[in-house]
Amino acid sequence: MELKITNLSKTYPNGVQALRNVDLTIPTGMFGLLGPNGAGKSTLMRTIATLQEADSGSIILDGMDVLNQKNDVRKQLGYLPQEFGVYPKISAEMMLDHFAELKGIINKKERKELVKALLEQTNLYHVRKKNLSSYSGGMKQRFGIAQALIGNPKLIIVDEPTAGLDPAERNRFHNLLSEIGENIIVILSTHIVDDVSDLCKNMAIINEGQLLLQGEPSEVIKNVEGKIWEKVIEKHELKEHQEKYNIISSRLYTGKIIIHAYSEVNPDSFNLVSPSLEDVYFSSIKKVKQTTNV
Ligand code: ADP
Repeated sequence: MELKITNLSKTYPNGVQALRNVDLTIPTGMFGLLGPNGAGKSTLMRTIATLQEADSGSIILDGMDVLNQKNDVRKQLGYLPQEFGVYPKISAEMMLDHFAELKGIINKKERKELVKALLEQTNLYHVRKKNLSSYSGGMKQRFGIAQALIGNPKLIIVDEPTAGLDPAERNRFHNLLSEIGENIIVILSTHIVDDVSDLCKNMAIINEGQLLLQGEPSEVIKNVEGKIWEKVIEKHELKEHQEKYNIISSRLYTGKIIIHAYSEVNPDSFNLVSPSLEDVYFSSIKKVKQTTNV
C-alpha cells in the first residue's frame, strides 16, 4: 500500500504559495514529514485528509483518487489535527461511542466492544469515565488517536502531536504510534527532528512549500557524511563565524557555543563529526534560504 502525491500545488487567496509542485510517495509504516513552522505541512496534511482543495496535482491512496473520491477516502482515514478544539465535559467513553456511531457503527454491542478495545489500546481505560476537559495533554493526544482509529483506517495523519507533552507523555505517545504504524500508513507531521529520528522508517523535509528531500533517515544522514564540521566558540565569536562560514546550527553549551558548519572541506580548525538527522534538516533548510536569497 502507498500514498502517492504528484505535482501538488496550493496558493492561498492572499498569495502565499503553501505547496509548490510537491511529489512524494509514502509507503506503509511510520512516515515523518519534517519542516519549520509555515513550511506547508498542515496544508499538505489537510489536503490529504480531504479537508481542503489543492489547485493542481493528484493524491492516490491505494488506487483511490483522494481529491475526487473524498467520501471513499474518509472511510479509510483517521485524522488527528493540530488543534482538536474544545474538549467537552463528557467522558472519553461516551465521546468515543458517539464518534463510532457517527462513523456508521450502529450496533450498540459492537460499538461497546470497539470503544473498550480502543480505550485499552490507548491506555485510557482506567480514566474512561473522566471528563475529557480534565485530561492532561498526553491523555488528550491518546484520546485523539483512539478516535482516529475508529473504523480501521488505512491511513492516519497526526499533525504536530508532541508539542506541549512532557517527556514521559511523549514517550507513551510514541510507543502507541509505532504500534499502530506497523500495518498502515501513519504520517507524522512535525518540526521536532527527534520525533522523526526516533520513530520513522521513512521521511521527507519540506520548507516554503517545497519538498527538499525524502528517504530513510539513515540514508539521508549518509548523504551528508564527511560534510558536517563542529567547533566550540565563545559567544562573541558567533557573528563573525556566521559571516565567514556556512553555519547550519548553533547551540549553547556550558556558556560557550557549539556551531555546526556544512562544507565539502574543513572550513578552518573545525572537527569533522558524524552527522545527525538534525544536521540533515538544518543543512537542507539553509540551502533553500541561500538559493532564494540569490
Ligand atoms: P505548517 O503547518 O508547516 O506550519 P501551514 O501549511 O500551516 O504550514 O502554512 C503554510 C503557509 O501558508 C504559511 O505561510 C501560512 O501562513 C500560510 N497559510 C496557511 N493557511 C492559510 C490560509 N487559510 N490562508 C492564507 N494563508 C495561509
